[in-house]
Amino acid sequence: MNAPITSPIAWYRRPRATHAPIGFEARLNESLDVLREAGQHAPCVFAHSLSAEDMVIFHLIVEHAFPIQSFALDTGKLPEATLDLWSRAEAIYSTRIERVMPRQTSIDVLNAMNADSALYENKEVRLRCCDTRKTEPLRSVLAGKRSWVTGLRRAQSAGRAQVASTEYDSTFQLQKFNPLANWADEDVWYFTDKHKIPFNALYEKGYASIGCDPCTRPIRENEHPRAGRWWWEQTDANAIKSECGIHVAANSNSTPKEN
Ligand code: SF4
Repeated sequence: MNAPITSPIAWYRRPRATHAPIGFEARLNESLDVLREAGQHAPCVFAHSLSAEDMVIFHLIVEHAFPIQSFALDTGKLPEATLDLWSRAEAIYSTRIERVMPRQTSIDVLNAMNADSALYENKEVRLRCCDTRKTEPLRSVLAGKRSWVTGLRRAQSAGRAQVASTEYDSTFQLQKFNPLANWADEDVWYFTDKHKIPFNALYEKGYASIGCDPCTRPIRENEHPRAGRWWWEQTDANAIKSECGIHVAANSNSTPKEN
């Protein structure tokens, strides 16, 4: 189903900042303040997606010994490169990233629906798959927690343009901290390069936003960085909106909705 990509794209070939971007130190300090506050809302967990921004957060949590437990959702559909990064990150930082998996009974229901192929034809099936493999397991791991941390950034998409550093998550009913809300792409990659933080090898193969293997493709030159996620559902390339359902209620005043 992945669209053929025949040439490298400019997104990951762009020049990376070798000096701190303007205002970077202030944004970094703000991020540390947000993580410090998150740690004070214990028990607090970090939803690690193994993305570049989440590797930055993981690095900060470990380096500063913030009392925040990291976990990742193993959907059963993650690319090999993501699983490889997961292992490398745990080894490099000597820190476990808890593996959270979907219930087998729910997977059996998906299989009976032929969800692997049907998700491209039927959005209800795609949402059911995301709910089963991501939202249900996330709900179980967030149960009893007081707060959680995510790598959401305003610069990622139009649907995330209003993300705040801290907000009440009405969907899961706990405080949500987004320490990199103000970070631009160049901030993420500047910090990654400076601290030699490991990252997913798919970034060097034209991928700009990486999720499950069936629902992620590399992007073409001039495409939006999230254009490779659920691309068959996107009708407006300039306003990438599809989400998996995990981050659909951005603040206390919003109602759960599909972005
Ligand atoms: S991103 Fe795709 S494979 Fe992963 S849970 Fe959602 S629909 Fe299923």
